[in-house]
Amino acid sequence: MNSSVCEVLEFVKENDVKFVRLGFCDPFGFQKNISIMADELSFAFENGVSFDAHAIKGFRDVMRSDLLLFPDPATFMVLPWRPGPGRVARFYCDIKNPDGSVFPHDGRYLLKRVIEGCEKMGYTCMIGAECEFYLFKIGEDGEPTGVTLDKGGYLDISPLDRGEDIRREICLTLEEMGIKPESSHHEQGPGQNEIDFKFGNALESADNLLTFKSVVKSVAARNGLFASFMPKPIPTAAGSGLHINLSLAQNGINIFKNVSEGHSNIVESFIAGILSKTAEITLFLNPLANSYERFGAFEAPKYLSWSHQNRSQLVRIPAAIGEKVRMELRSPDPSINPHLAFALILAAGLEGIEKGLILPPAVDADLYTAPESVISNLTLLPDSLDQAIHLARDSKFVHSVMGEEMLTKYLAIKETEAADFAAAEDKERFYKERYFN
Ligand code: GLU
Ligand code: MG
Ligand code: MG
Repeated sequence: MNSSVCEVLEFVKENDVKFVRLGFCDPFGFQKNISIMADELSFAFENGVSFDAHAIKGFRDVMRSDLLLFPDPATFMVLPWRPGPGRVARFYCDIKNPDGSVFPHDGRYLLKRVIEGCEKMGYTCMIGAECEFYLFKIGEDGEPTGVTLDKGGYLDISPLDRGEDIRREICLTLEEMGIKPESSHHEQGPGQNEIDFKFGNALESADNLLTFKSVVKSVAARNGLFASFMPKPIPTAAGSGLHINLSLAQNGINIFKNVSEGHSNIVESFIAGILSKTAEITLFLNPLANSYERFGAFEAPKYLSWSHQNRSQLVRIPAAIGEKVRMELRSPDPSINPHLAFALILAAGLEGIEKGLILPPAVDADLYTAPESVISNLTLLPDSLDQAIHLARDSKFVHSVMGEEMLTKYLAIKETEAADFAAAEDKERFYKERYFN
């Protein structure tokens, strides 16, 4: 047993932890978990805990349906919102086949592999995600309504902002779990909020994003509210984005830091790599039919372009200094599987470096009002789930990062979803029934 396993077992014994949740994420961004009694934890570290992989969308067929969860000791957290005595802790897990080999369709494994490649090239990728979400009231039947918590707008304060106590509780809960919240505010839409937490290495950030979403959900529910991460829950209001901020460190130093004096070639090629692959990987950055309602309005992008500061672009280099200098990818939304999405984005950037791609010139224009002469030179992001599926299916890059078997399963499920969407007469109803979660 390694020392962190011993430390965790010791903590569990000394601190009245009775239940341990073994968590993972399905390919479509839904968190899953199985709860074991704390006494079983030592066995779980050694032998894993089995589950029915056929019952998880996109994982396995019924003939090879046993997979094992091995808790990753580095992800141990006590869930502050579960009552004591008899505390609840959780891990994210590595997933293995019964013969001990890795299950290669797990997003977490995929991300770890891409991170290894990144480190072999001499870089550490740091990622910070900014997640927006809406708060809705719950009706007398206990179901969420379409009525937002308030009618506030960007950076409003109380009484227009009725989300301040919820955001406060979310920040305090995150802190208790060792995730460092940095800032929070009312966003542009009525009842829309954003909380940003500190960036970390790519794996830590993807794990933290999963944790963040469950903290938001459970704090909202405890307060009689419903938190929705749907990309465009209200057709006439701002969508919810999940901006992904990336930087690269070499020997502990952020190589994005000289970005304001002109990028280094490596940084430029990294950004160029991401720009060149965004269309092909959009399926994984914007996985729902509803995701495509968000593009092209309320500061969500529509074209494959970049610029400094400009919030109408796909990639923005925010005004920042020191370790905070980074690129911001603005198309992703909160419905992603973060491990899968981060793996593809990072692999795209690394390929850009390997190939020495040249960054196209910045487009210094407001792309919501720019004249045809500017717009006609730009390439559009995919504008539907259907189009995103086609681009992913035809992408050599996506095939090579994800592997055939995982991609085939993923595409089959998404194709069915796109066909159901095409057949639905009432699109808004389809969104509400499928995605309002
Ligand atoms: N809500 C906008 C979006 O959908 C982003 C607004 C912002 O820049 O924070 O991406
Ligand atoms: Mg925002
Ligand atoms: Mg942002």
